[in-house]
This record gives sequence, structure tokens and C-alpha cells, in this order.
Amino acid sequence: MPPISQPEVRELATWRGREVVTTCYLDVDGRRFVRQQDLEREVDNVVRRARARMNGNRSVHADLDRILAFVRGGVDRRRTRSLAIFACDADDYWQVVPLPVAVPSRVIVGSAPAIAPLEAALQDYERVGALLVDRQHARLMVIGWDGIEQELDLLGDVPVSTSAEHGSGDRDRSARTGTREQAGPVARQVARAVWELHDSVRFDRLLLGGPEDVVAEVERALHPYLRERAAGRLGVPAWASADEVHRAARAVAIEAERARESALVERLRSTVAAGGRAVAGLDATLEALGAHRVERLLVSHGYSESGWRCEPCGRLARTGRACGCGAAMHEVDDVVSEAVDDAVSSGAAVEVCVGDADLDVVGRVGAFLRF
Ligand SMILES: [Zn+2]
Repeated sequence: MPPISQPEVRELATWRGREVVTTCYLDVDGRRFVRQQDLEREVDNVVRRARARMNGNRSVHADLDRILAFVRGGVDRRRTRSLAIFACDADDYWQVVPLPVAVPSRVIVGSAPAIAPLEAALQDYERVGALLVDRQHARLMVIGWDGIEQELDLLGDVPVSTSAEHGSGDRDRSARTGTREQAGPVARQVARAVWELHDSVRFDRLLLGGPEDVVAEVERALHPYLRERAAGRLGVPAWASADEVHRAARAVAIEAERARESALVERLRSTVAAGGRAVAGLDATLEALGAHRVERLLVSHGYSESGWRCEPCGRLARTGRACGCGAAMHEVDDVVSEAVDDAVSSGAAVEVCVGDADLDVVGRVGAFLRF
């Protein structure tokens, strides 16, 4: 099970209190902070830096006190590498989401929970189906946040090599000549089993592993819906251990995610260059967001910048004091996080791009526009 569902993320993004909300991401990784006192030193530092920036907001200081007390009370770190904490003392609001991935420590104070780092962590943890086949085996594993969630044997006692209509001789010949043949009956049986299971064991991506000729045959037999989601190959044998499969699948999924992000960034750059419906850079993006034109926001992982918000009209800007609507703006800790939160709560898609130099070049943030 994911640590938090998409509807819960949306609920966080749209939560508003009477006072500002304190968000704390805390790296609690046991490999970096071996002893409890190491972890306490980390949280002390993070909180001290946050206090220095917050001149005397009572609710925020109470939130920071509670965060300190919570961490000092002990954190179960067996499967947790970071914590996302959302707090607003004035509204008695308190949520802790343990994450199995490392997120850099930071405190963000704003009008809503800052969910950008959480979104980034969730993006990298799609559910992945790993389909491992060879002539004797067909296994489907579903990999989620905590590792292998399910493992299913698709063939039972029927080895692939018993395929009478499509024996190994045919397969060898087709591999040699490159002929695209119809999938054999057992490949079709495997494909049908995956399709039937897909309804109950949801996954976002399907990765195939095993000897290439068998894999290619199964892939041809897959339902088109699944073939579209067959996003890569796992370099592990069909009998690989759950651990090996998990590690290989994570590596492939992250690589695929990076490739997808990089294609999006490329499209953003060319659309901006052609004067199409897209903007790049913080100022242009905040302006588009304020005009409710953002369809999809792209932002570099870790990008943060102080800025301003106008409470009456909701507009964000890098420089402030006076808003176009005539009202006075107030300073915000991280205008980029606030922009991501606004985008999510308005229903826009958000892509947090990790290590994409091309996005950094155009200003680390940009957006495709609705109009
Ligand atoms: Zn305004």
C-alpha cells in the first residue's frame, strides 16, 4: 500500500486553516543518522533554521515544538527513510506521513501544506508489474512502496516448452530469421492471465524479464492496453529472487520516469520557442498560474525561492509588496512550493523533474497552458 493515496494528497493540497501551515520534511534515514541522538541533532538544526526565519508566529512556533517533541519521542525507522509532517497548531491540524524514500530535510511555512516533495516521492513510486517468463515459468510480481506486494504463478504446472503448435524449433528459427510470428498458445495464456489479473492487481507500468525470444512472444500476445504500459525490460532471469526483481524494477522505473520528464521538458522548450501555449521561468509561470491558465506545471526537484502572495486574489510573485489587484502582498517562504500547491489544488498536473539540466537552463520551472 502507498503511504498516502492520490485523493489524500489532493486533500492535503486543498487544506486551508485560519493560520499558516507548517510543513516539515525530515530525513530520518538510519544509514545517515544511526543513533537516535544523531536524528535529534538533525531535527534540532532544521527547526532552529526555521525559527530564525519565522519572526514570532505563535502557531508556527507551536508546530515546531510539536515536531521536535514528536521526533524526540522516537520514530520507527525500520522502513521509513523520511517523514512528511503537516501541522497547524491554530487549527489543531497534525498529519505525519512516513515515507520509504529519502527526502531532503526542510521546513516550509505557507498558506497550505507544501506537498511538492511528497509528489516527487510518489511519482518515483508507481506500482510496477514485473512479468518474468522463460520456457518453464511465468511469474507476475506487483511492486509497490514497500517492495513486492504480490507474487503470482501464472502457469501452474504448464511449462511453456510444451507448446505443441509453437515448439522451441520454430522459435529458434523465428529468432534467426527475424520473422514476426503469431504468439504461441502458452504466450497467449500468459497474456490472458495478466490481463485478467490486471483488474484486481493494479499497476502503472509493466516490465518484462526473461529470454528475449520468449519475452517478445508474450509481449506480442499482450492486450494492447498492457502492451502500451510495457515500459521496459528487466535484466533478471525468470527465477530471480524477489529482492533482485525489486531492485531491477526500481532502476528501470526511475530511468523511464527520467526519460518521460526529459521528453516533456523538450516539448516545453520547443513550444515556448515557437511561441505556443507554454511559458518558462518563474515570473512567467507565476503569472500564468495567477490567470488560471496552467494545465501542466514542470518544476526542477529542489528548486525553491522566496516570494510574495496576495491573499485576496491568490496571486504569487517573485517580487512583491503591491499586487496588481491593489491589495498588499505578504512574504512567503517558498513561492515555488506554493505554486506547486496552487497547481495541484486547481487540478493541473505537476511534474517534478529530477536532475534535468534542460529545465534548469530555462529557469527551473515552466508550464503548458490551457489557453
Ligand atoms: Zn492581488
